[in-house]
This record gives sequence, structure tokens and C-alpha cells, in this order.
Amino acid sequence: MLIGILGGGQLGRMLALAGYPLGLRFRGLDPNANAPLGQVAELVVAPYDDRLALERFAAGLDLVTYEFENVPGSTAEFLAARLSVSPPPEALIRSQDRLEEKRLFEECGIPVPRYAPVSGPDDFAQALDAVPLPALLKTRRLGYDGRGQAQIHTAEELALAWERLGGVPCLLEEFVPFEYEVSLLGVRSRRGEITFYTLVENRHVEGILAISRAPAPRASTALQTLAQQYVAAILNRLEYVGVLAVEFFVVGDRLLANEMAPRVHNSGHWTIEGAETSQFEQHLRAILGWPLGSTTPRGHSAMINLLSVIPPIEPILGLPNTHVHLYGKEPRPRRKLGHITVRADSAHERDELLRQVLEFVSFP
Ligand code: AMP
Repeated sequence: MLIGILGGGQLGRMLALAGYPLGLRFRGLDPNANAPLGQVAELVVAPYDDRLALERFAAGLDLVTYEFENVPGSTAEFLAARLSVSPPPEALIRSQDRLEEKRLFEECGIPVPRYAPVSGPDDFAQALDAVPLPALLKTRRLGYDGRGQAQIHTAEELALAWERLGGVPCLLEEFVPFEYEVSLLGVRSRRGEITFYTLVENRHVEGILAISRAPAPRASTALQTLAQQYVAAILNRLEYVGVLAVEFFVVGDRLLANEMAPRVHNSGHWTIEGAETSQFEQHLRAILGWPLGSTTPRGHSAMINLLSVIPPIEPILGLPNTHVHLYGKEPRPRRKLGHITVRADSAHERDELLRQVLEFVSFP
């Protein structure tokens, strides 16, 4: 089986590494010749909208998936007319636009922060009526890791922020004083079988994921059930196939959906060592129509992202139950270069190991 991956980043690389034991082969498509997937698989280097390159990429593939959600929807649809593409292009297209994404959450009965579309100055007054301050102005498209966002404390700041973000279509969104952030990874297979991982508690630094802990230390069983109900609604509505990650803000016993990613997700990297089946293997099983694996956690895990610089690896490898993953990327500010996973039998031991790893790691 030859699987095509749109995007050649670390997620694609980890998908391929999970697929080799299952006898799978991979071909990536990425505009960047140094994309990490290219170190372990065939890589077609071309822009995503290059039709001739897409034909070359598609030749001989059994199916296509993606590891990057800003692949143009038209690329996914072009390939879907020729091959099986999972997750469905609709999930990709709706997740690329924060307004479409929020509408999808609402259609599925999932609460979201108060928001209003801001396409231009004519919308300012209405948006300020609908959304209490402080708020965040977010570009509808191409925002990630906290990019494309501005804080709005006063009505006057809105016009300035909108211009600073490039005068593009935006959303004004209330600032949620959340207690903490969680994500849930749901997986639906081609057969309609659904599994979930345990809720993960995520800590972001300047909008970038820094640390994930699983199971989420503060989340109750009721919160897990609620999150599963919400994610199942999306999976079923889109007849989704593959891993879907949904990020939520926790406010008391409520969950407000922030955003979704129609792909394997950074907050699921702990599953490589910390769950019976990793998110990468599970995604492949799902898109191939194979039985899903067990998502049972192996004790308690934490994942620490390596951002901007790679710390000294040897002392970290000297810690018990500690695993290092490097993606083969050139260091650059705010860039995800690798991650570390620690695994332990109790939450207390896990947190102690996490503390030891953090002596070597810094965040931007
Ligand atoms: P996003 O790119 O929308 O996921 O935002 C990145 C991070 O910024 C989130 O994980 C939160 O930590 C923070 N953030 C985003 N939206 C809000 C909000 N409405 N209220 C409070 N914090 C937010």
C-alpha cells in the first residue's frame, strides 16, 4: 500500500514512521525540499496547486491523507476526484476558516466563545455590541500557533488591530477567562467505528503548545464524557475518517470549543509511548478501514515541545522513562524542532519527571 501525505512536516514523518511496521509505504507533497518527511520517504517538491505535480504525486497511490490543514481545499478536491482522500475535504475546508469552523461547532450543538465576523469597518459597531471586551481579533484564515491575533481592550483598538492584521476578514472573539485548556483526539474509521483518547491538558506559551499532560490531571469523568459527545457529533456529521483533534477551554463544568485540526495533532504526541496505540498508527488504521487499536493510556504521560532551540540531549536521555524525538529541522525562533515524552505509573511521578526535563528546556 502506498499512501500519499499532503504536507511533509513532522506529523507526516511520524505518520510514516508508524506505518512502516505495518508494511505501508509513503509519498509526501510539500513545497519545501527540506521537509522532514523527505528524510524517511519519497517527497514530491512542488506548490500544492501545481496540477502537473499533483498528477505525479497521485500516480500509483492507494489513498491520500494530510498532515497540514492549510493545503488548499481545491487540491484536496482535485485529488478526491481521482483517489480516496481522508479525512473528507469538507473537514479541511471548514477548519481553514475560523467562521466556518465556529458554525460547524454550533451546528453540532457545541458551545463556543461569543464571536462576531469583522470583514471591514462597517462591521466594527455591530461586533463590539455582540462581543464583550477584552476580546481577541483573529484572522479567519491562516492563523496558527497564536499568529494572526491581536488583543482588543478598548473599542478604539479594534480599527487599529484590524489594519495591523492586514485588513483581511477577521473574527472578534471574547477573551475567555478559562481555568485550563484541554484537547480531545477522536478517531473514526472507514467502518464508522469511533475511539477517543483520554483528555489532554495543554499549556501554551505565546500561543504555541508547550506542554501536554495526559490524562488531563484536573479533568473529571463527566468532562471526558462531555468532550466525547461533542467530538462524536462532528465525526458523525462529517462522516469523518481519521484522527480529529478538538481544543477546548474549560470553564467550570463547561467546555467551549476553540478550534479543530483535521489531522494528527501535537497534543497527541504522547500517545507514541503513552498509549497502547499511537495516534499515528490509529490514523492509518482508520483511513485504511482496518480495525482500530486500543487507546488505553499506559500510565501517566507528559509531552514537552522543543521550540526554537534543541537542548542538550544526553542528560535528558539519562532520565528514566524519557523519550526524545527530533524532527531534523533547522533551528529557528518559535519553530517546533522536536518533543520529549515522559511516562510514569502515577501522576505524581510523571510531574516529578516533567520538572526534571524542564530544567533543560526553555520556551520562547
Ligand atoms: P488559537 O490559535 O485560536 O488556538 O489560539 C492560541 C492560544 O491562544 C489558545 O490555545 C489560547 O491559549 C489562546 N486563546 C485563543 N483564543 C482565546 C480566547 N478566546 N480566550 C482566551 N485565550 C484564547
